[in-house]
Amino acid sequence: MKPLPNLWDMYIESMLKSFLTCTALVLSFSIGAQELDGRKVTETLCSPDFHGRGYVNGGDSIAAQYIAQQFERLGLAPLPGQKNYFQEFNFPVNSFPGEMTVVLGGKTLVTGEDYIVAPNSGSFTGEVELLRLDAAIVASEDALTSLVSELRFDNPGNKGVLVIKEGASDEQKKTLSGIASEMASIVPVVELYDAKFTWSVSREAKKYPHVLLRDSVYSDEPIVEMKIVNKFISSHKANNVIAYVPAKKRSKKYIFLTAHYDHLGRMGADTYFPGANDNASGTAIMLRLAEAFKKNPMKKYNVVFIAFAGEEAGLLGSKYYVDHPIVGLNKIRFLMNTDIMGSGEEGITVVNGSVFPEEFDSMVKINEEKGYLKQVKVRGKAANSDHYFFSEMGVPAFFIYTMGPNKNYHDIFDQYENLSFAEFDDLTLFIQDFLRSF
Ligand SMILES: [Zn+2]
Repeated sequence: MKPLPNLWDMYIESMLKSFLTCTALVLSFSIGAQELDGRKVTETLCSPDFHGRGYVNGGDSIAAQYIAQQFERLGLAPLPGQKNYFQEFNFPVNSFPGEMTVVLGGKTLVTGEDYIVAPNSGSFTGEVELLRLDAAIVASEDALTSLVSELRFDNPGNKGVLVIKEGASDEQKKTLSGIASEMASIVPVVELYDAKFTWSVSREAKKYPHVLLRDSVYSDEPIVEMKIVNKFISSHKANNVIAYVPAKKRSKKYIFLTAHYDHLGRMGADTYFPGANDNASGTAIMLRLAEAFKKNPMKKYNVVFIAFAGEEAGLLGSKYYVDHPIVGLNKIRFLMNTDIMGSGEEGITVVNGSVFPEEFDSMVKINEEKGYLKQVKVRGKAANSDHYFFSEMGVPAFFIYTMGPNKNYHDIFDQYENLSFAEFDDLTLFIQDFLRSF
């Protein structure tokens, strides 16, 4: 017969078990709710499911939803008087959701590497007979007139133009690029290109494609085969995502921390621009700081966090906020905008540093004391990110970006895997120290 277990031992054992389970639960909860993993956030925002956070497959709205979820998870509230985190606005934008192929001499080219399409490209499917346009033709009025008239009036629908800049002066190259862009209103254009590909977003569309072809890929083929499909969206809906942490004591004063989350989206169904450095990295830092300020709010300032949309289409989200402020611009003591936070080996540049010297000196001093970054470099005014319309309206604002060996910018190589995150943790602390110094 098996002896009955001692009741007291059983009680102790069950208490111990439940204590352990509880502790495990508390631990796993606090680990789950603690430390937002900024690298993971960056990686998620760069994943193919987010479609380059642009204008194909609702990429930018997927990102907006994700950021709103993070705000919610961190326990941040929408701004007073707002039902949710979103501030909606509209704009026209050109997009490339469909198939995209360019075939040259029987070889299918690699989208994003061998060629890109100008952001304002239109559509064309079929073979194009390429007529040459170069500096010599532009220099001769007769030659140019005869080329344009052939394209306009003697064109069965398959003639296009091949823009060759070889041997041209810098001035002539500019002129040729300008003409190439104009020509896309009347025929498909292939422009040979020897510089780094840097894509962007256009709010308008030409009738035909304008292909920028890496000149080393081209070798005298008179025919190019292309399938390029654009979709012009006349009123694209986008959302700024906004949350805040109230000050410990009731306050009417605000600090803003902002970062754009949109990027360039897809260029054809198979190719997308992950925008890791620009600006999944800055969005992730903003979320990390949202977590830090939620845990330990400022005494005198409410801290507002805005993930802007439409930055790559022309600073549209921040412009919309400035024109339709929820918290009045005169209540903002300082705005810090982060964009391109993924490196930092060479430190950071502070746009508007020379416009607000007192704040800049304070930043430099904090960095010297704490030894965060190799360099805090001053720069003047520049309309290159979402701080711009705020400071134009008199809001003291900085835009900081990291410097380092990573030169992947507005191209398909701006990938999560190519970020060093050299100063990611230091930057999170540094920005926090600086904002808390107000
Ligand atoms: Zn950017």
